[in-house]
Amino acid sequence: MAWFRAVGRDLPWRKTRDPYSILVSEVMLQQTQVERVIPRYLAWLERWPTVESLAAASPGDAIRAWQGLGYNRRGLNLHRAARRIAVSGWPENLTELPGVGPYTASAVRCFAFGDDVLPVDTNVRRVQERTRDRFSPAAAQALMDLGATVCLARIPRCGICPLAAGCPSRGSRYEPLRKQSRFEGSFRARRAQTLRLVAEHPQPLAALDGEAVAALRDDGLVVCDNDLVSLP
Ligand code: SF4
Repeated sequence: MAWFRAVGRDLPWRKTRDPYSILVSEVMLQQTQVERVIPRYLAWLERWPTVESLAAASPGDAIRAWQGLGYNRRGLNLHRAARRIAVSGWPENLTELPGVGPYTASAVRCFAFGDDVLPVDTNVRRVQERTRDRFSPAAAQALMDLGATVCLARIPRCGICPLAAGCPSRGSRYEPLRKQSRFEGSFRARRAQTLRLVAEHPQPLAALDGEAVAALRDDGLVVCDNDLVSLP
């Protein structure tokens, strides 16, 4: 904790305990890097500072605002979650919200509601496995930063690690992680490109990638009306 107080990252979502703001940050961080999330998080909250304001927007506005973050279903699910919370409040079990899995639920519980639960993301899990230690929820942010900046996946920086003295993995090296499959030319890329076109303005179906449109429609990201494809 002393190490974290000295060198912890100054991230905007660490300055709030507002559950909606924390939820927005956690959903954005699910598959997007911190540096890319920061400006998008700030812009999102400036536009929609509350659950109610996001719930009042159209799904299409949320999808359009999500463009460039990738995995667009997250934006749509965040909007659906906001609508549900605006009507019924925050559920006891947060995984009932669209797009909220066990990790995101535990992060919101810990960082917003102060529940006694440690959110275990990739970084936290790696530090726990290597140190074979247990940590309290109070250490969550510190563990996340330690995993992101010191206890790195392949070559951990044990020489500057505050846990080195008691760590049985000190000095170890690890195999490269399996690379993510290529985005270029993938079906994900075709979907993203198709959604980008529709987000600019409605498009005739014949002008688009039909398979991508079908997949986007199944996910609720586009609607087709008289062969015109638009955001919902
Ligand atoms: S000593 Fe090395 S392996 Fe152990 S927690 Fe620190 S960085 Fe990770």
